Amino acid sequence: MKKPFNKPYFTGKETDYIRQAVESGHISGNGMFTKKCQSFFEKHWGFKKCLLTTSCTDALEMSSLLLDIKPGDEVIMPSYTFVSTALAFVRQGAKIVFVDSQGDHPNLDDVLIEKLITPKTKAIVPVHYAGMACDMDKIMALAEKYNLFVVEDAAQAINSYYKGKPLGSIGHLGCFSFHETKNIQSGEGGMLAINDEHFMKRAEIIWEKGTNRAEFFRGEVNKYGWVDIGSSFLPSDIIAAFLYAQLENLDDIQKKRKEIWNTYFEGLQALAKKGFFQIPQIPKHATNNAHMFYLVCNSPEDRTGLIKHLRENGVHAVFHYLSLQQSDYYRKNKDNRELPNCNRFTDCLVRLPMYYELSPEETTMITTLIGEFFMKS
Ligand SMILES: *Cc1c(COP(=O)(O)O)cnc(C)c1O
Repeated sequence: MKKPFNKPYFTGKETDYIRQAVESGHISGNGMFTKKCQSFFEKHWGFKKCLLTTSCTDALEMSSLLLDIKPGDEVIMPSYTFVSTALAFVRQGAKIVFVDSQGDHPNLDDVLIEKLITPKTKAIVPVHYAGMACDMDKIMALAEKYNLFVVEDAAQAINSYYKGKPLGSIGHLGCFSFHETKNIQSGEGGMLAINDEHFMKRAEIIWEKGTNRAEFFRGEVNKYGWVDIGSSFLPSDIIAAFLYAQLENLDDIQKKRKEIWNTYFEGLQALAKKGFFQIPQIPKHATNNAHMFYLVCNSPEDRTGLIKHLRENGVHAVFHYLSLQQSDYYRKNKDNRELPNCNRFTDCLVRLPMYYELSPEETTMITTLIGEFFMKS
């Protein structure tokens, strides 16, 4: 058996749509497929306004510009996340204040946030790990109390909900990724959801290199020019054409991923009950979009051994994230707070292969290999 960690799924329509984009003669940004994707998101999940970007990293950078993050501002976020969550704000000179994860879930521990808020705090950036919602009511209440902005890093959270509300639609801004490791993908790709109306006009300007070009093309102004800061955040319509094919297959993709997730969950439950490791718990307020299946070992040695055993049998399992607070780049700024839960996930979490073409039989073979490892050791 040879099982990679990830295998990007192609629905078969991608190349047809790319051909259509090419034949239409418009393959730069904000073309027909970009509009189709954006309105799909707006209709399907009720985001007030969506802008496609070339990555979630870009959507986060746009957020940082929209919030006018300046040197000395403080931004609160989990340490257990991908670099991009921090990078966008660091680039504007912000000081990042990391929060620990919850004991039983990699999501940030909302109980710890309030103590970290100072007069310099500008924003909270919750990350919905594995597409499972942070407690957004608590986070939004804090934001309101202290007059802060909330940017949801919903990179992994497409088609997932908090108390019935789509993730990415609750904070002032929401950032999504369509990197090839995500549920819906276009190789590289992302999207900014703008939920607070007061950011809408400026978001479009920042997206279009600081110009009011989008307004011009809608006929709202009779010439366009340089009106603000910005960058080239919009993807080519070729990327949007690819993404649209994926969006049309959303239900099928999600059904398949949930089947795989459930097969892992059921196959590993007995071993988890015996205490060999922990399996994901879906918070009561959250849904599961089957972005990822992970387990948390009892020790780094178990994790290393398990990954090795799987690899010897052709199965590629991986670990992540290295706590950002401990990174070479950030360590010099670290305060004296330890983040024990984050460290435990850094040391003990394993992600299992998860992709459309993984069959239930192969998934079961992987759970059998995991059982073999723990029953032997
Ligand atoms: C994938 C991911 C990102 C980065 O997404 P890109 O589209 O590759 O920029 C950011 N944050 C989290 C939590 C992610 O999982």
